[in-house]
Amino acid sequence: MVDEQIIGRGIKDQGVIEAMLVVPRHKFVSENLRTQAYNDYPLPIGAGQTISQPYMVALMTELLQLSGKEKVLEIGTGSGYQTAILAELSSQVFTIERIAELSQAARQRIEKLGYKNVVFRVGDGTIGWPEFAPFDRILITAGAPDIPKSLFSQLSDGGVMVVPIGDRNFQILNVVKNVGGRPEVEQSIECTFVPLVGKEGWNGA
Ligand code: SAM
Repeated sequence: MVDEQIIGRGIKDQGVIEAMLVVPRHKFVSENLRTQAYNDYPLPIGAGQTISQPYMVALMTELLQLSGKEKVLEIGTGSGYQTAILAELSSQVFTIERIAELSQAARQRIEKLGYKNVVFRVGDGTIGWPEFAPFDRILITAGAPDIPKSLFSQLSDGGVMVVPIGDRNFQILNVVKNVGGRPEVEQSIECTFVPLVGKEGWNGA
């Protein structure tokens, strides 16, 4: 997976490559999908949601430019796989998932693997986690209609947010930097994520 899908497609951040080698992706999918865990596509994780394609996880992490010291907010815990990659590469991860059963399963996996720097919350991640703001990095792993304002306001000055923005079926990965309170936006690749559902996302499931 790492040679062909990650390094082979141009991921250069050595930390990201090492994290993708270390985190056991097969432990984040159900038994019947384990043989497909390292394949080049997303997989179902229940409740109509998915664990993202390995390359997408690597690219989004690389775009965050982590040095190891950051406080990271992740919106969309899902299986917890991306959470584990972030936990390898940052100081603390705050992760929010709107579906309780997914959050619970992810928490069990993360705890079993021994990560001590992850805090979980069930709820609408589009409004962020003001009690712990500001965050040095924010990663949104679901497709948003626009930059969620509350989340941008919780990004530290100089901080970076990675967010897929578009319609419900098609998005572009956006890298949003907070420059003195103003967003500076760069676009990366096209992508397709499940919708970000919430107050500052899409309505309904
Ligand atoms: N990164 C995850 C992984 O490695 O398994 C995959 C995330 S999946 C593509 C997107 C997740 O975002 C889903 O689990 C979905 O329930 C969650 N989600 C959607 N809207 C949300 C919101 N407003 N707050 C929190 N989580 C949300």
